[in-house]
Amino acid sequence: MPTMVQQNLKEDKTEKTVIPFSKKLNTPLTKNPITVLQINLGKRCNLVCNHCHVEASPKRTEELTPEICQQLIELIHRFPQIKVVDLTGGAPEMNYGFKPLVEAARSTGKTVIVRSNLTIYFEPGFEDLPDYFAQHQLRVVASLPCYLEDNVDKMRGKGVYNNSIKAIQWLNQLGYATNPNLILDLVYNPQMPLTEKFSLTPDQVKLEQDYKLFLKEHFDIDFNNLFTITNLPIGRTKFHLQRTQLYAPYLKFLENNFNPDTVDHLMCRDELSIDYLGNVHDCDFNQMENLRAKSHSGEQLTVRKLLEAGTLDLIQEIPTASYCYGCTAGCGSSCGGALV
Ligand code: SF4
Ligand code: SF4
Repeated sequence: MPTMVQQNLKEDKTEKTVIPFSKKLNTPLTKNPITVLQINLGKRCNLVCNHCHVEASPKRTEELTPEICQQLIELIHRFPQIKVVDLTGGAPEMNYGFKPLVEAARSTGKTVIVRSNLTIYFEPGFEDLPDYFAQHQLRVVASLPCYLEDNVDKMRGKGVYNNSIKAIQWLNQLGYATNPNLILDLVYNPQMPLTEKFSLTPDQVKLEQDYKLFLKEHFDIDFNNLFTITNLPIGRTKFHLQRTQLYAPYLKFLENNFNPDTVDHLMCRDELSIDYLGNVHDCDFNQMENLRAKSHSGEQLTVRKLLEAGTLDLIQEIPTASYCYGCTAGCGSSCGGALV
């Protein structure tokens, strides 16, 4: 195995063999008016998935503070242009501020997405969540990286598949996927590559049909949409790629599959991504890589500064990095699945 110094040198070379994403685009990646507020409530999670870009786990303690939570509630109330509040983590349900943010957003008529790992409903103290979701008509976007048990447990831990199935059945019983106000979407992630035989995410429409057929037949489960999401080379995915010496080839593979048609639809163009400290980013990936969003005058933004400025539309240009090739390869990828 290479030493860390050798690894870093190799990585520097990698970044040089891949055309910088900003150069590939030719023009700056600009922001549209903000309509989505994504909040990462913290890094605590009951799982430790091997692809997690947040590097979340039960041992992490970083989470929203009451002060930042209050500022976010003010932001939600003051800006009707925010149509969607998207709550993520970690397991957002385990981190401070989850219910107050849900209730603020729902009381102002916004759509609320909860990015749920499903297994959290079986942890002590969280058994009320499915009822709570249904009562507040939350849109549940739930990870189920494969419809086969072995693949899911390899990625997310032993027993996760069975608990996920039980959780979906529970949500179905409450009306999810049959009541039009109770939407349940599932998320597919590819397995971690072990060789240079990389592949793009499968066709989303076709895979959704396969998931629906399999899950209905075996477990009598229903869901609304399947989102296919590419693993971006950051967080634990990056560590895995580095360990297996696949980081450079994977980035090159993504670059080789760059699809310019995806660029108009990138999720970073109309969202703000807020971290547990109240800092503003353009997406959750930039957040994890500490690439901050800046105003036209170059000032790093926070929720407090947005409130003081009285506008959400202060960002002109979105900072990018080589991992952005993960969002633009093939059919593209976002928190809402394929882009084109
Ligand atoms: S991928 Fe999601 S469920 Fe898995 S450890 Fe990360 S935050 Fe938790
Ligand atoms: S990682 Fe994706 S969503 Fe984030 S800035 Fe890059 S292209 Fe946009």
